[in-house]
Amino acid sequence: MQHSDPEITIVGGGLVGLSVALGLLSAGKRVRVLDGADGDARASQGNFGLIWGQGKGWDFAPYANWTMDALTAWSGFARQLKELSGMDVALDQSGGYEFFTDPAEMAGFAAQLEQQAAHLNDRASFEILTGDDLRSQLGGIGPEVVGASFSPRDGHVNPLRFLRALRCSVHALGGCVTMGATVSTITPQPDGGFSLALANGQTLGAEMVVLCAGLGSTALARGLGFETQVRPQRGELLITEKLGDRLPFLSSTIRQVDEGGIQIGGTKAETGMDDSESLDVMAGLARHAVTVFPALADVRVVRAWGALRVMSPDGYPVYAKSAAHPGAFLVTCHSGVTLAPLHASVLAEWILNTSDTPDMEAFDERRFALSHAA
Ligand SMILES: Cc1cc2nc3c(=O)[nH]c(=O)nc-3n(C[C@H](O)[C@H](O)[C@H](O)COP(=O)(O)OP(=O)(O)OC[C@H]3O[C@@H](n4cnc5c(N)ncnc54)[C@H](O)[C@@H]3O)c2cc1C
Repeated sequence: MQHSDPEITIVGGGLVGLSVALGLLSAGKRVRVLDGADGDARASQGNFGLIWGQGKGWDFAPYANWTMDALTAWSGFARQLKELSGMDVALDQSGGYEFFTDPAEMAGFAAQLEQQAAHLNDRASFEILTGDDLRSQLGGIGPEVVGASFSPRDGHVNPLRFLRALRCSVHALGGCVTMGATVSTITPQPDGGFSLALANGQTLGAEMVVLCAGLGSTALARGLGFETQVRPQRGELLITEKLGDRLPFLSSTIRQVDEGGIQIGGTKAETGMDDSESLDVMAGLARHAVTVFPALADVRVVRAWGALRVMSPDGYPVYAKSAAHPGAFLVTCHSGVTLAPLHASVLAEWILNTSDTPDMEAFDERRFALSHAA
């Protein structure tokens, strides 16, 4: 249990804020997490649960390598969460497929995988399968599927259990997570440190602040000297009734949750802060699932939802230290499930500037200014 005032305040208690909190607590710091309101957009409560590397960073080598490091770290991370929280996040990292019905689209993705592999050197591992190869490996794949890529490193977890396990792990290490603690303003103090005004009228002081508020970050970032503006991108998902039989594959759009339901997703739409679901998109998802695996035609859909991704301007993570206000950090990313083991370890070292602090320059927000100047 922590007994004294926190040294580091994290604003945002989603997957990113809690993972960073876990890393900082593991390094022996006193940490407080302030999380916003139930009505906030919360990607951490609506995601697909993939631990996924295929295609990631094909045009940005640092991200390709960062993702591969995360995939490698996941089994140890799942064990750490189990020890701290007692919860099994149902990590299954036995490989995953990207299915294609359009040969041109498949060729384009195969070319991206080649580029990704060039960044990863001998760490890359994927294979391209024709439709017939695939059908001989996996019974029940539909005739319209022209092929797939497969990576043995990809996998998934139970995303809501993962979120709970993170929260419990933070508590187990003595961290304090306060819900309903929306931060309205963060004001840098003249002699160092920060003053946080909460929507409930409270004012809190902090030596260091890590902004991990997802789509709520933009409103607070400017005052800390950050320029990054994240934007929402809607994804819609379906979930079916629980099935006794196991689905014979995991894919980036169709997966079976450990509890039995099949989750179907993968859509992307620029709809602003609107996270509602729409009939035509849901129908498209259902059609896709039946095309890939026709046996799903007889399975009932029991739930559907939309959720908003947290996207940086180029879609890659932003890890930034404020030059104007030392002690303030901005951490935001898409793929917060996949990257969590690194947010809970390497990234904490970077925030604390330890002797083996990693070089995170490639993920600094200065890249946006540089790309505008180019
Ligand atoms: C449909 C969908 C599918 C996805 N699938 C995957 C996947 O398969 N694999 C993967 O790796 N990633 C996936 N993601 C992405 C992943 O879910 C996100 O990267 C991750 O959840 C982001 O976490 P976060 O903590 O940054 O944001 P959030 O989960 O949005 O959390 C931000 C938190 O900050 C709080 N907050 C906001 N403003 C304030 C404030 N002013 N004061 C205090 N607190 C505040 C909010 O209440 C919230 O709890 C998916 C996302 C979506 C939407």
